[in-house]
Amino acid sequence: MPPIAEKLRQIQDGIASACVKAGRKPDSAQLIVVTKTASIEQIIEVVRAGFIELGENRVQHLKQIADQVGESLQASGQAHLASQIHWHMIGHLQRNKVKPTLQICTMIHSVDTLRLAEEIDAAAAKLHLHVPILLQVNCSEEPQKYGAPVGAVIHLAEQIASMPNLRLEGLMTMAPLTMDKEVVRTAFARARELFEEIKSEKIVGSRFHHLSMGMSQDYEIAIEMGATMVRIGSAIFA
Ligand SMILES: *Cc1c(COP(=O)(O)O)cnc(C)c1O
Repeated sequence: MPPIAEKLRQIQDGIASACVKAGRKPDSAQLIVVTKTASIEQIIEVVRAGFIELGENRVQHLKQIADQVGESLQASGQAHLASQIHWHMIGHLQRNKVKPTLQICTMIHSVDTLRLAEEIDAAAAKLHLHVPILLQVNCSEEPQKYGAPVGAVIHLAEQIASMPNLRLEGLMTMAPLTMDKEVVRTAFARARELFEEIKSEKIVGSRFHHLSMGMSQDYEIAIEMGATMVRIGSAIFA
């Protein structure tokens, strides 16, 4: 088995057992393969292994690799695989990069201000799209990090929910960079609380069902705390 496929299988097993440990169905957390450090060849291997939910954090790079991956698959007679890929924008998004992002991505995880949401809503209207988005929360409340402040999230969710061309499907967060598992767990628990609160107050309707949290170092804790999507890169490609 090629090494990438083997690693993907290990991660998939890790996700399934973390789900079971948390009393959840083994397939209740979706793997987003973060390709920002991967080569085109590695990305092709990922797609051939059947993993089509891919994440990138920079639009410019995403455009380049999406094209190259498409060409490469086409050249090997597998253009159908290229059309199955779902790209997720997971990194900070500048307002002037919204249009190219919408042309490639099926979901944006990193919406964290009203102005960005408004920009995406307007661009989506022009492109006749209804865009699935997640609201990024700064759960560790580190000042240098992206994400809406915890105290602003409910109100922001209400505002975004009223935008006609956006579909608010959940929350996204990143844990602080620390080896201290309790600090990580506390940040994820806060995201979970906000998620449940928004859901129970029926601010945004039944589509609100995703909690995108957990990376290579902390995905097991994230699943324990309710993640429905984990975004993993270095554990696969490093
Ligand atoms: C890079 C990145 C990841 C993946 O992190 P790894 O530690 O490589 O698994 C997840 N989410 C975001 C927003 C990222 O930028």
